[in-house]
Amino acid sequence: MHEMSIVVSIVEIAESEAKKANAEKITEMELDIGTVSGIEIDALNFAFDSIKHKTMLKDAEIKINIIEAKSICEDCKYEFKTENVYTLCPQCDSYKTSILKGKEMKVKSITTN
Ligand SMILES: [Zn+2]
Repeated sequence: MHEMSIVVSIVEIAESEAKKANAEKITEMELDIGTVSGIEIDALNFAFDSIKHKTMLKDAEIKINIIEAKSICEDCKYEFKTENVYTLCPQCDSYKTSILKGKEMKVKSITTN
């Protein structure tokens, strides 16, 4: 389950930010997770629950913002919602499409006490 290693690095980022602010604990953390980031939200939550008691996020409320993926066609410039990284343009069938957003996997903000 690769979500565990992702959670470990998210916790490291959050803790180092909290330490910079001389905080003792994190009360809230907000994450941006894109729908084509390859992360399963359930697995992510499960991984958090299994390690957070050992971290500064022990009592933190974790908010996850789901970022819906969007692609653009490089041939006709059509922008469309997508659920896959590799997809054909629904307008002209071009395979030259690229993801505009939806690959996010980041700590948006933390709140400390
Ligand atoms: Zn197109």
